[in-house]
Amino acid sequence: MDDMREKAAPVTLLVLDVDGVLTDGRVYVGPEGEALKVFSMRDGHGLWLVREAGIEVALITREDSVFVRRRAEKLKIEHVITGSLDKRAALRDLAERLGRRREQVAYVGDDVIDLEALQWAGFAACPADAEEEIRGIVDFIAERPGGHGAVRDICNFLLRAR
Ligand SMILES: [Mg+2]
Repeated sequence: MDDMREKAAPVTLLVLDVDGVLTDGRVYVGPEGEALKVFSMRDGHGLWLVREAGIEVALITREDSVFVRRRAEKLKIEHVITGSLDKRAALRDLAERLGRRREQVAYVGDDVIDLEALQWAGFAACPADAEEEIRGIVDFIAERPGGHGAVRDICNFLLRAR
């Protein structure tokens, strides 16, 4: 626990995968294609709290979805990287652009596409229902699943670690 806190304390940039982290990973599909993704208000409030505490928030997702853009706008998340196939490269570029060292970067992901980004970040976290391979390598596993408060758990932990 102390080691986890020590890793979480310097974080000033929180980067989130979207599907399976801010959502439960499900997509509602209608005749026109992707119809809906569901986000948690509690996660939204957690992100507001960390930002108030001076932690910048960013999203990196493989998908390009109008719902993600809308949600990011609503949450006032400036940095939204979509269509990313190499998340570690995207994370490193973003950290460099924002002048952050690895130790200052937290990354949250739920699936194997996030593995390298999680290994690169100074603090790695995942939802309770992340893939087993991911749960095996992160510093912190949220009590709640993706889309159901996982991000809030991680925000709360980062705030307590400061
Ligand atoms: Mg995901």
